[in-house]
Amino acid sequence: MHAVSHSLIALAKTLDLRWQNYRSSGGFDQFIEFTLSLNGLTEHLRQQNLPGLASACQELENRALASLTDHTLHPLSDEQAEAISQQLSVMLQLLHRHEAPAIAAKRISDTGDDKRDPWIRQRKVLIVSHPGHAWRTALIEQLSFYGFRPHGIDWDETPEAGEEPLAIIIVPDRENSSYPQHALDALQQLRARHVASYIYCLSVPPSLEAIVNLQRAGANVCIPAEDQLSDILSRILDLVESREQEIHRVLIVEDSKTATAHVQRALELHGIDSRAINTPLSLLQACADYRPHAILMDMYMPFCTGVEATRALRQIAEHQSIPVIYLSGETDIGQQVEALRLGGDQFLTKPANPIILSAVVKTKIDRYREMLRSGRHDGLTGLLNHTAAKEQLEHMLRRALPAGHLTVAMLDIDRFKSINDNYGHPVGDQVIRSLAWLLRGRLRNTDLVGRYGGEEFVVALGGVDAGQAMTLLDRIREDFSRLPHAHGHEALYASFSCGIAALPAYTTGSSLIEAADEALLQAKRDGRNRLVVANRHRPEH
Ligand code: GH3
Ligand code: MG
Ligand code: MG
Ligand code: MG
Repeated sequence: MHAVSHSLIALAKTLDLRWQNYRSSGGFDQFIEFTLSLNGLTEHLRQQNLPGLASACQELENRALASLTDHTLHPLSDEQAEAISQQLSVMLQLLHRHEAPAIAAKRISDTGDDKRDPWIRQRKVLIVSHPGHAWRTALIEQLSFYGFRPHGIDWDETPEAGEEPLAIIIVPDRENSSYPQHALDALQQLRARHVASYIYCLSVPPSLEAIVNLQRAGANVCIPAEDQLSDILSRILDLVESREQEIHRVLIVEDSKTATAHVQRALELHGIDSRAINTPLSLLQACADYRPHAILMDMYMPFCTGVEATRALRQIAEHQSIPVIYLSGETDIGQQVEALRLGGDQFLTKPANPIILSAVVKTKIDRYREMLRSGRHDGLTGLLNHTAAKEQLEHMLRRALPAGHLTVAMLDIDRFKSINDNYGHPVGDQVIRSLAWLLRGRLRNTDLVGRYGGEEFVVALGGVDAGQAMTLLDRIREDFSRLPHAHGHEALYASFSCGIAALPAYTTGSSLIEAADEALLQAKRDGRNRLVVANRHRPEH
C-alpha cells in the first residue's frame, strides 16, 4: 500500500503555513520559503514513490519558480496568487485523500489480522484495454508468471478499491498512433485515483505532441510501438527493484553546530537521511557504522583539515570512491582547486543554498551508486554477480548464525549448450533472463539471487530451513519447466537442476556453496530437472 506518511503530512502543513505567511505579508523572502518548501515536498513525494502527487507538486513548483526570478514581481497580483492558491488546495486535497488508507491499513496490522504471506509481494498491476485485446491476455499470463497480480479492466470500468496498483499499463486500441481523447480522459481519471502508481502507455508513436499529451494526462513512461513484451516486463521489474532501493545516507563532518543544523535541515527537506559528527577523529568509525553514500566535509576543524581527513579516508580501500563534498567559507579559488586535487569531488561555499546542496548531494550519490551497481551486478540479468553474491551470502550468514536458519541453493540450466546450439545465443540469453526474472519475482526482497556463472545461479533464503526451501524451489522448478520461451513459431522449453544445503549442517559460506554444488551434480546424474538436498551426517570440522 502506497499511502501518504505522517512526515509528508507534516511537510504539507508547513507548505500551507508558508503560503498563508506569504499571502499576509507579500514579502519576497516568504515567497522563497514557500518555493523551497514546495521543492522539498516534490522531492519527498518522489522519494516515497508517489509519482502522481510528485508531478502535481512539481507543476506548482514550476509556476512558483517563474515568479522567483524577480523580487519586483512581489506581492503577486490577486489573480496570480489566487491561481496558486487553487492549485495548492487541489494538491493538498489529493495528499489528504491518500492519508486515510494508511491509517486503516495500520489498524488491521495492529490487531494482528494481517496474515499476508511474506512470499507474496504487493504487486498488483492494472491493464487497461478494450476487452478482447490480445496484449491484455499475453500480459496477464506473463505478469502472473513472474509473481505479479495483474487485472484487466476496460476503458470505462472503474477499478476496484483496495490495494494501490504498483503499475498501470495502458494498451491503446490502435497501435502506433496518437491516443484518442477517450483514452486521454481515462488516463487522467486513473492518474487522479492512483497517485502512487506508475503509469505505462504502450505503443506510443514517435511524436512529441503525442508524448506531451500523454505526460500531461499523467503518464510516467511512454513505451514506443516497436518495444516487445519482454522489454515491457523488464522495465516493470526494474521499477520494482528501484522502489526497493534504500534511502540516501549522508555523513556530515562539521565542528560548527549552526552549520550542521543548517545542512541537516536542507537534507531532511529533500528526503535525504543524515548523521553528523563534530570531529574528524571519529570519521572512520562513523563510516563503518553508518555506511554513508556521501560525505559533506567541513574544511577547518580541530585536529586536522577536511582535506587531510579525506586523504586519510582514501587510504582505506572501501572508502576510495565515496563522494566527498567540501563545505567551507573558503572563497579562495587556489585553495579550492588544491582541495579537489587532494581527493574531494566538489566544493560548496557556506552557507550553501539548500536546493543546490541537495541537488549536488543527490547527483553525487546517484553516480556513486551507479558505479557500485555496475561493479556488483550482472549486465544480462541485473542480478548480483559472482563476487557480490558471495559477499552477500557472508552478510546473511553472519546474521543467521549461530542459531538461525539459512538455506543455499545452486541452480543450473539443463542441457543449455544444446539450447544455444539449436536456437542461437540470443535465445539462450533470453532463457537465462527468464530464469533470473522468475527467481527475482518469486523470492522475497531479502533473499539473495545471484548469477554465479553462465547459466548457473545461487540463491540464499534467510530464516528458511532445507525442507521449506525444497518446497518453494521445487514449485519454481516445475513452473520454469512449463514456461514456453518464444522462438519463431514454435515454443521451446527448458529446465534446471538444483542442489540445496542448509544450516546447521554446514556453517560457512564456502561449505554451503560446495555442498549445494555437490548436490546439484547429483541432481544432474539422477536425470536433471530435479532437486537434491545435501545430506551431511558427520559433524563439520
Ligand atoms: P548440463 O545439463 O549438464 O548443465 O549441460 P549444459 O549444456 O547446460 O552444461 P555446460 O556447462 O556444458 O554448458 C553451459 C553452456 O552455457 C556453455 C556456454 O557456452 C553457455 N553459456 C554460458 N554463458 C552464457 C550466456 O551468457 N549466454 C548464452 N547464450 N550462453 C551461455
Ligand atoms: Mg569548521
Ligand atoms: Mg547447465
Ligand atoms: Mg553449467
